[in-house]
Amino acid sequence: MPTSVCPECAESVFVDAESEQGDTVTCDECGALLTIVGLDPIELDPIADDDEYDRGSKAYDDYEDDYDDNF
Ligand SMILES: [Zn+2]
Repeated sequence: MPTSVCPECAESVFVDAESEQGDTVTCDECGALLTIVGLDPIELDPIADDDEYDRGSKAYDDYEDDYDDNF
């Protein structure tokens, strides 16, 4: 599984191999919600979270097939 570095806490973040640019991942260390802005190499940008989306804390596995993540 590819990894990148969390821009918030500098810890390694696991990125699903199926992920595409624009997908979101959650940092296991600090809980930051991150957008994949590049794939080669993987680059992550933090999402400003004024609202606390109640997702990602446990739903690490997104359902890639029928879950179209339009952030
Ligand atoms: Zn982090």
